[in-house]
Amino acid sequence: MILPIVMYGDPGLRQKGVRIEKITPDVKRLIDDMFETMYEAAGVGLAAQQVGQALQLTVLDVRAVKDRPSTLEVDGKPVDVAAFMPLVLINPKITPSGDPVKGPEGCLSFPQVYADVTRPESVEVEATNAAGKTIHFKAGGLLARAVQHEVDHLNGILFIDRMSSEAKAEIKNEIETLQAETRAALKKKSG
Ligand code: ZN
Repeated sequence: MILPIVMYGDPGLRQKGVRIEKITPDVKRLIDDMFETMYEAAGVGLAAQQVGQALQLTVLDVRAVKDRPSTLEVDGKPVDVAAFMPLVLINPKITPSGDPVKGPEGCLSFPQVYADVTRPESVEVEATNAAGKTIHFKAGGLLARAVQHEVDHLNGILFIDRMSSEAKAEIKNEIETLQAETRAALKKKSG
């Protein structure tokens, strides 16, 4: 089922996700719905907060992006990125490393808003997958950026928080309009 995506201005995006202790049928259904929603919106990642669930859960798939490569290592050895997708991260713990890299970023909760964000070039990840198994990997390139962006969502942090004041100034009008529209829609919904 395609879920409505929570837009910027909704306080739900600022909520820190609760740990998932058990992968129940409801959690499995949510994971399926999140993938369906992400693919339909042509995104590479989606966090539970973006579908109104404050949980430590995100889904990713970088396969559709051909012009921005990703790298992946498991146990210190290079692994085929495509074979590792799609990716479910439950209760992820990340350790970013390497030099800061500036790159363009978007977010499904900010339609049509793109800006440069500087993030460490790689990230080590430990998480639980959809089968309840612990996974470890090290990502680089687009996947490293996407993982950091999504794990930020799980902690109520948005990409605008990571932008330089110059980058944020360029999109100021767009995000203020979006925030006002979202708040107006929420007010209408709550009567
Ligand atoms: Zn996002």
